[in-house]
Amino acid sequence: MAEKDICRILNTLSREYNRGAYPGRSSEGLNPEWECDPFHVLVATILSQRTRDDNTRKASDNLFREYNSIDAIAEADPDKVAELVRPAGFPKQKAKAIVDCCRILRDEYRGAVPESTEELTSLPMVGRKTAACVRSYAMDIPSVCVDTHVHRIANLMGLVHTKDPESTEYELMRITPEDRWSDINRYLVRHGQVVCLPNHPHCERCSVREMCDRYLSEKQ
Ligand code: SF4
Repeated sequence: MAEKDICRILNTLSREYNRGAYPGRSSEGLNPEWECDPFHVLVATILSQRTRDDNTRKASDNLFREYNSIDAIAEADPDKVAELVRPAGFPKQKAKAIVDCCRILRDEYRGAVPESTEELTSLPMVGRKTAACVRSYAMDIPSVCVDTHVHRIANLMGLVHTKDPESTEYELMRITPEDRWSDINRYLVRHGQVVCLPNHPHCERCSVREMCDRYLSEKQ
C-alpha cells in the first residue's frame, strides 16, 4: 500500500477519536489523573504488558498514589509494590522490574528517563513497544509503538504483511512519513478498542473499510 493511503486512514480516524493516551489512560472522555511524563508513561507501560487497559489503570493508580516518583519507587519494598500492582497480573515480576528500573534511573541516569531506544530497551522489561510508547507519548519524539491492536489492524487492513510486532514496526516506519509515526498508535489503538474489536470487528460501521483488505476481500 502506498504512503498516501496510511495518511488517509490516519486522517479519517483522527476525525472520530481524540488523540488517545498512554496505556491505562486511553479511555475516551477520561482525563489522565497522572501527568503524561516519562516516569509515569514508562511505569504504566511496563504494567500494561499482558493485561487489559482497565487493569493497567487500577494498578498504576494504586502504585502512583503510594509512590509517585523515581526516587520513591527506587526506595520501595518490592513486596509492597507487588501488592499494589497485583491488578495488572504478574505482580512479583512487574514489581521487581519497576523497582530495578527506578534504581537504575536514580543511580545511572541522575533520576531521569533516557531518550534513546537503545538506553530505554536496556532497562528491565522495556522492549521496543514500551520504549516507543515513552518516546511518543511523553517525549514527543516520533515513534511507532506497536501493541497487539496496531499489529493486528495493520495486517487486517493490508498495510503490512508481518508475523511479529517488531517487523510491523519497521514496515510501518518504512511506509509512513516520520511526522505521522506517533499517530499510528494514537488512532489504531482507539479503533481496535471501539470498532475493530479483536474477536468481532464491526466492519459495518468502520469508516476506513473501503481501504481495508479484509473487508474488501470478504465483500467479493
Ligand atoms: S473494515 Fe473491519 S477489519 Fe477492516 S479495519 Fe474496519 S473493522 Fe477492522
